[in-house]
Amino acid sequence: MTRPMLRIHTKFLSLFVLMLSSMQVSAFEIDGSRWPTGEIEFYVALDGTAASGISWNAAFIAAMNYWNDETSFNFILREQYRDPCLSDGLNSVDFSDNLCGSEFGKNTLAVTVQSFKSAILGGPTISEADIIIDQNKEFNVYDGRLAQSGIQGLDLRRIALHELGHVIGLGHEPSSAAIMAPEISNLDRLQADDIAGAQMLYDGVINCAVNELVLGSFNNALDATDCTVSELLPGSSDTSPIDLYRFALSNPATLSLSMTSSTLDSVLLIADENFQIIGFDNKSIDLCNSSLTQLLQPGTYFLLANTFDTQVKNECGISGGYKIDASMRSGGLNPLGSSASLTGAAINANFNGGITSDGGVSFTNQFVPAASLDVAVRIDIDPQHVGQAGFLVIAAVVDEQILFLNEQGQFVDSAANPGVITRASNKILTAVEESTAIDNLVPESLGISEMQVDFFFGYGLSSSPNELYYHQLPLRLIIAP
Ligand SMILES: [Zn+2]
Repeated sequence: MTRPMLRIHTKFLSLFVLMLSSMQVSAFEIDGSRWPTGEIEFYVALDGTAASGISWNAAFIAAMNYWNDETSFNFILREQYRDPCLSDGLNSVDFSDNLCGSEFGKNTLAVTVQSFKSAILGGPTISEADIIIDQNKEFNVYDGRLAQSGIQGLDLRRIALHELGHVIGLGHEPSSAAIMAPEISNLDRLQADDIAGAQMLYDGVINCAVNELVLGSFNNALDATDCTVSELLPGSSDTSPIDLYRFALSNPATLSLSMTSSTLDSVLLIADENFQIIGFDNKSIDLCNSSLTQLLQPGTYFLLANTFDTQVKNECGISGGYKIDASMRSGGLNPLGSSASLTGAAINANFNGGITSDGGVSFTNQFVPAASLDVAVRIDIDPQHVGQAGFLVIAAVVDEQILFLNEQGQFVDSAANPGVITRASNKILTAVEESTAIDNLVPESLGISEMQVDFFFGYGLSSSPNELYYHQLPLRLIIAP
């Protein structure tokens, strides 16, 4: 996070002008321009056809498709007219003899107008972008050199390619080997430099290590080895370090988080899969700590552990160790991470799990010793395995010990039978395998007052008994007084 300050919720405007020559370059750029997500709708309904016989619409749509094909950014085509001069939150293009009331520059071919809005994390993001093309210039559609005998006019497709680069959030590239050079040239397709620019803006997460969120308590640290906000959300000037923890929900859930540290000014954030911030706590009123409770709908999310880019308080710094406590209460079972197989074979199964002490009304991960627990699992079996003879496996990991549930309903230490996968049941596999792995377990009655157990579920086929399909993320049970 950047150091807190008064937020001004105004729109910033920026104009990008594609010039015929560099004589009158007057464009200016704002750093930190990207869309919140790598996908926007764009309205295109241009009347008329070039001398070459290609319609303006086809040329413009081809330019959109070049960006779609070559980069991770995606334009969704809407073939309807929208006025690009209206501030309506819709992105569009049109020919005009004026620039929304102002005059076009003498050498200006087209202009992209952008609006921005401020974001909680990272720099301002683009909220609208429109292209206005000077209809008094002569255009055509063709490949190759600009000056060709027998061809009049400038190629509109490469102009559209350039302006759409501004729409995406790219500034001018002074190098001549780019569509995003400030002047139109003989280049008629996206160049490596243009593609790299778009990737830098929208593939930030590939710069950053992503952890899977395991509920319970864990320790980590923020320091110079971590990804920064500006690496995650390129264009931002925020150099604070950030840790990413991904999780998925298939049922609505309330996530309760605390981040505690003796040295670090803690900032907790929850973001959707496009890093749009849903909730955050940067108050740190309680010394250097932070806490956050958030109701979330089914989807994929990130828990972000962050701090500030410059020190805010005397008591807390901007690097150091932290501890996160994460607990979740949900109305149903939730995903247990990505699927895997012992031999590394591809697998198309999904594993969900949950622990309840109220007969399935709610599921959470932390219980008192007197609670009566049911551990439930639902496996969506790989369609290729449905109907085959197979088996289910239920494992519990306590410290270094791995226990398997046997067919008699008892957990047995795997160390007693090295290399053997003990089965919980043998059966013909159905599309959805639901079971209560554990029924009415009262930890107190077993003399347990404090314990952490990680459950894993798996299945296999009788035809290949040494192969096992399972999930990566444990279903964690925490017993604490
Ligand atoms: Zn430009």
